[in-house]
Amino acid sequence: MDDITRDVVVIGAGAAGLTAANDLRTAGLSVAVLEARDRVGGRLWTDTVEGAMLELGGQWVSPDQQALIDTVADLGLSTYSRYREGDSVYVGPDGEAKRFTGEMFPVAPETEKVIDEITARLDAMVAEIDPDEPWAHPSAAEWDKISWDAWLRQQTDDDEAVRNLAFATGSAMLTKPTHTFSLLQSLLMAASAGSYSHLVDADFILDKRVAGGLQQVPELLAERLGDDVLLNQPVRRIVWGGDSAASGRSGDSVTGRRVDDLRDLTARVEAAASSSAGVTVIADGVTVRARFAILALAPVLYSRISFEPPLPRLQHQMHQHISMGFVIKVHAVYDRPFWREQGLSGTAFSPYELCHEAYDNTNLGDERGTLVGFVSDQNADDLFRLSAEERKERILESLSRYYGPEAKSPVVYYESDWGTEEWTRGAYAASFDLGGLHRYGADLREPVGPIHLACSDMAGAGYQHVDGAIRQGHRAAQEILERTRG
Ligand code: FAD
Repeated sequence: MDDITRDVVVIGAGAAGLTAANDLRTAGLSVAVLEARDRVGGRLWTDTVEGAMLELGGQWVSPDQQALIDTVADLGLSTYSRYREGDSVYVGPDGEAKRFTGEMFPVAPETEKVIDEITARLDAMVAEIDPDEPWAHPSAAEWDKISWDAWLRQQTDDDEAVRNLAFATGSAMLTKPTHTFSLLQSLLMAASAGSYSHLVDADFILDKRVAGGLQQVPELLAERLGDDVLLNQPVRRIVWGGDSAASGRSGDSVTGRRVDDLRDLTARVEAAASSSAGVTVIADGVTVRARFAILALAPVLYSRISFEPPLPRLQHQMHQHISMGFVIKVHAVYDRPFWREQGLSGTAFSPYELCHEAYDNTNLGDERGTLVGFVSDQNADDLFRLSAEERKERILESLSRYYGPEAKSPVVYYESDWGTEEWTRGAYAASFDLGGLHRYGADLREPVGPIHLACSDMAGAGYQHVDGAIRQGHRAAQEILERTRG
């Protein structure tokens, strides 16, 4: 097993980890990035399936995502707009497909009025929230106690209005049932995109794609780091705090204390870190000794790593209140974009359908047509109880309700199932359970001794998105640079 020494070891070669590693390298520090998989990118994965280039993970860029836009430009990549000419389709409670244009679904005038009123209320609440610290709002505790579904049902008894409002942050974003997360969590999701209205506007939130695929972002970032990115290196153990802090005695005292004492520990660890004994990170084929580490993976995966001494009590507790959402991203490729011939944009929504949303996902310059659909949370669980053939049949049947029978006969069909990915375990990202955001949010990004944290799942702006991952990568690198300068 190799034994190497660096200033900083980064664990995870996703957008967050690679951004941090590049910043640190540019500032003159030596880095090593350890990645469990045999590829970089984490939840960004552009692959070719039966001759079709597909975005199996993240893909869209919205105009507010400045950190991602800057990185895309810095790497010399270009973007193009999602196809959106023509009518969108909405399927209501009667199962009938209705065409519409603009942002408002074709619902009854009373329902439309209710949706407008509640949207205005939500926009006003979101405007008061700082996405970087939603827990600081005076009503945060109250808003974190009530589920998103329960709050919406307190506003109106119009079920169709509730379902349409709920799904923007539910099935479409946090990908959890709407009774499992709080109003505050929902407001954070909206605040991270600027407003609730932005979040429900597909033309805003799903604006652009990167020509050739979004995984080029981590690939090109990794290229700049060369041999300092080590693949197939799942990290199993982290010994932190130098020899003294790593002893059983110190470990016991850490777990037995309150957060305030963590600051004392942090001071001791800082001393150890500055004497170059900060952290030893043990992966399958390499051991890296470094002054600092950055954990650049979803917090739900921290428990896969053995920490010596153990992480403090607060972290042990907090990480158990964070969980991954779950969504199946389905690609169906056809010999041509047949829906365009019917004057359809490909954009389709229904809180009553298995595929709650679907879009034209045809690649730039491709004469074939690609649709992408999404099946979320409990619907996704239910589908995975079926055989692969039954699942495909049910999903294509759902797509056909938006686009007609031709949707049932794709030439290429692929389901991204991130739930089976050992080093991700769900999609799109992780969020707090009911009450968790207010209780733990302020501590989520706090470093523990020499260990700093970065991930899209702890972002404010860009939360659960690549933009947030990049912002968090910059932040974690900056924290370390400040410590090395201090
Ligand atoms: P990750 O990408 O999860 O990177 C973490 C890395 O750590 C991984 O490479 C993992 O293998 C590695 N790792 C984990 N454990 C260990 C270990 N013990 N040792 C070593 N390495 C380890 N975002 C958008 O902006 N737009 C979209 O359109 C969009 N759509 C999405 C669609 C899907 C299906 C999914 C899954 C996500 C989507 N997202 C989208 C979200 C976006 O992809 C993520 O928020 C972002 O890529 C996360 O980056 P990250 O670096 O924080 O984490």
